[in-house]
Amino acid sequence: MSDVYFAPVGAFKDKGLIQKIPLLFRKAGSSEIIEDGDLVAVKVHFGELGSSSFIPGFYVREIVEAVKVGGGKPFLTDTGTLYLGKRRNAYDHLNTARSNGFTQASTGAPVIIGDGLRGSDVKQVEISGDYFDHVDIAGAIAQADSLVVVTHITGHDLTGFAGTFKNLGMGAVGRKVKLAIHEAVKPVVKKDDCTACAVCVKNCPADAIAIDPKDRIAVIDLDKCIGCGECVGVCPERAVVVKWSGEGEKANMKLIEAASAVVRQKKGRITYFSFLLNVSPSCDCWNYSKAPMVPDIGVLASSDPVSIDQAAADMVKSAPGGINEAFRDPELRFKVPAGGSWEVQLKKAEEMGLGEREYRLINIDE
Ligand code: SF4
Ligand code: SF4
Repeated sequence: MSDVYFAPVGAFKDKGLIQKIPLLFRKAGSSEIIEDGDLVAVKVHFGELGSSSFIPGFYVREIVEAVKVGGGKPFLTDTGTLYLGKRRNAYDHLNTARSNGFTQASTGAPVIIGDGLRGSDVKQVEISGDYFDHVDIAGAIAQADSLVVVTHITGHDLTGFAGTFKNLGMGAVGRKVKLAIHEAVKPVVKKDDCTACAVCVKNCPADAIAIDPKDRIAVIDLDKCIGCGECVGVCPERAVVVKWSGEGEKANMKLIEAASAVVRQKKGRITYFSFLLNVSPSCDCWNYSKAPMVPDIGVLASSDPVSIDQAAADMVKSAPGGINEAFRDPELRFKVPAGGSWEVQLKKAEEMGLGEREYRLINIDE
């Protein structure tokens, strides 16, 4: 059984949630992962441009300050996306982070996009999973001495529940891993947008793309395609898109295997915070935010990724309904749209030895 520390929303003895975060950091023993002079990756989600539900920078600033007190040199990080948006390459991602309030001036830490300019800065880590024998971890995260995983708990359109494992398994890995999680996802060329510039042809490592001489568009040979996602990132016209489909349970199993590579690579040098605020039905990758499923709950901290996700899910499911009437029924809160149960995430994580589902909740106000 692992300890999960809980800072409830609201004030207690003149301390609001912002002031409780340094206390939560100390109580959860998070500074123990940091050695003097460590480069500490603080894995956050900067939110898509237009989203308003991501964790605000003023909370992240408190974690940054706590890392500095522990002797670390923190930097904020996330990775590029598969889909067309404002975080697909480091240039757009940095601008989006700045627009959403994540700057060194406001948070006290520089922003470094974990997988580089176009998502190819990764480090391969061997694992022996059912779906992966290796996972590409974002280079900056792999190279950091220690890692603070700061997660916004939400629902998710593919996995149902988005917690710590989604933050790592999709958010701390390279584009190829993201594509693999998205099941039978294969890139598709939008005929009307393709100018036959052949940039994708030159960059495809599998020689899977050719320009159709008659129609003057790029054509992808899906038998050759290895799902690396390179064409999605390099197309100047944003003409290559990913089809979002797949079986939910399989996606969840892959997610855990991908996250396990990060958890193991940072063994003993990783700690977890989860924010149960603005718990929206979809993740912060969307360019708008739906009304939250439940009222704000608070912040959790733990050294166990399985326990913290289990506690977060239990708290959201047992909370009263929020203003979003579609989620009054707790059973609908983490429903997997593609079918299956999100709970396979934590069962598999426990089986893989990443943590325990049984936890002891410690309210720091008490
Ligand atoms: S890079 Fe984009 S626009 Fe150029 S050929 Fe490929 S799909 Fe078409
Ligand atoms: S995903 Fe990779 S392998 Fe597949 S077509 Fe695009 S660049 Fe080529």
